[in-house]
Amino acid sequence: MSKIGVFIEIVDQALGKSVPGVVGAACRGGDVVGFVLDDLADKDRELLEEYGVTEVVVVGGREVALSELPVSAGLALADAVKASGVKALLGVSSSTGNDLLTRAALSLQAPLVLDCTGIDFNTNCVRKSHFSGKATATLQLTAAPFVCGIRPNSFDPVPEKVACTITKFEYAGPIDDAITVTGVEKSGSGRKDLAEADIIITGGRPIGSSENFKILEECADTIDAAIGASRAAVDAGYAPHSMQVGLTGKIVSPKLYIGCGLSGSVQHFAGMKSSKLIVGINTDKDAPIFSKSDYGIIGDLFEVVPLLTRQLQKRR
Ligand SMILES: Cc1cc2nc3c(=O)[nH]c(=O)nc-3n(C[C@H](O)[C@H](O)[C@H](O)COP(=O)(O)OP(=O)(O)OC[C@H]3O[C@@H](n4cnc5c(N)ncnc54)[C@H](O)[C@@H]3O)c2cc1C
Repeated sequence: MSKIGVFIEIVDQALGKSVPGVVGAACRGGDVVGFVLDDLADKDRELLEEYGVTEVVVVGGREVALSELPVSAGLALADAVKASGVKALLGVSSSTGNDLLTRAALSLQAPLVLDCTGIDFNTNCVRKSHFSGKATATLQLTAAPFVCGIRPNSFDPVPEKVACTITKFEYAGPIDDAITVTGVEKSGSGRKDLAEADIIITGGRPIGSSENFKILEECADTIDAAIGASRAAVDAGYAPHSMQVGLTGKIVSPKLYIGCGLSGSVQHFAGMKSSKLIVGINTDKDAPIFSKSDYGIIGDLFEVVPLLTRQLQKRR
């Protein structure tokens, strides 16, 4: 049986929320081998066992923390992948994942596709959205191993309890400290990461000021949501670029996307069209957002959102 590798991303000292979904994608191709940098906490190993990871390779770097040295980490991951004989290496298409997968692919001289939304291990084909989501490309990767970043929430985790063995891979190559990560500061709304959130509530141009995002924050607090912004809101200075969803912002795929005062432009839609359920709130009944929404609320966001928040608070 083939082996499929998954880069296990650790976020805030815990297993990245989208990792089980990527493991779910990898399970379709064979036994799953996880690769983690430096160390793996027992609680994370237990979680990986719940989702069918049969082996975890802890990639260590001779007394240096590889997670702080992205250049060396990419080389080390590539060496570990080579030694393991996996057919493919998958990972979450997050900023850290994309960075490391790209470095590993370069070192492996392997084909690389990021932000994949589908994968077929029988034909070695991946699916990826193009032209603001107007077209979907199917790309066949003819070399092995190949490397793929998977868009968060594109695959559901598949619970399948197994016992997981831990092996160590000691990286013996050069240690390159050209880039050292000295700390990670949260940006944007200081809340949940947009790419990993199950629920996102987004404000468009009519939000009018950064202070007015407070009404979205109150709603977000009630339903544990992340907060996004359209480019028009970002360009007007109401929100930082790190909150922007769309073609030139973040690509998101939550279970629920609530768009407040968004016209529904193609460029915005390109970043959130794979949301499982879309709710649009707009004063204009003919706004394009409604043709792309599962539910539409015709109304003023300044009235609708507080009302929604109160109802959600009651239900909690
Ligand atoms: C190359 C390129 C890349 C781009 N990348 C992105 C991107 O990544 N992300 C992105 O978002 N955009 C992007 N854009 C911009 C995009 O084309 C739109 O201009 C932008 O998405 C519009 O933002 P909006 O919907 O917030 O504002 P508007 O288009 O101004 O729409 C506001 C909507 O709110 C409604 N409204 C007004 N008042 C209220 C109220 N009180 N309550 C409820 N509804 C109300 C209006 O009816 C209207 O439909 C890009 C454009 C280009 C050319």
